[in-house]
Amino acid sequence: MAWHEGTYACGHTGRVQIYGPVKDREWKEKKEFSRLCPDCRKKKFYEDNLKAVQTAKEMGLPELTGTEKQVAWANAIRLNVIGDMYKDRLEFLLSERKPELHDQIKSGMEQIRNYIIKNKTDASYFIDRRDYTFTDFINEIGRELGWTK
Ligand SMILES: [Zn+2]
Repeated sequence: MAWHEGTYACGHTGRVQIYGPVKDREWKEKKEFSRLCPDCRKKKFYEDNLKAVQTAKEMGLPELTGTEKQVAWANAIRLNVIGDMYKDRLEFLLSERKPELHDQIKSGMEQIRNYIIKNKTDASYFIDRRDYTFTDFINEIGRELGWTK
């Protein structure tokens, strides 16, 4: 364990404690300083969340409930879930399954997405599930819809 000083991608300097075998430390140090510094990361996190609130408004998504910070964070998570995560999963399923199943897959996926948008308006719902994959949502909501037990 040792302290390493360096310059982050944002230009701020700082020091970090790096653990693990000596041979990995240089790589870890490089990786750490290739990122924004902790303060800039925090700032960017809030800025991105506030942007998500604006985007959600523009998309006409239902407003989320919770504290201002929770709502902002949850909006960023929700946009990712119903956007990129949804698209990636759909693309994957369509590439894996037979063409005759595609309409069914598309409609099922759309139902899940719409169900999330319409019914999940509590900020904590998204924050609690920030590590979920889209498949986790499919499984959980499939149960709520009575598709599976
Ligand atoms: Zn910085």
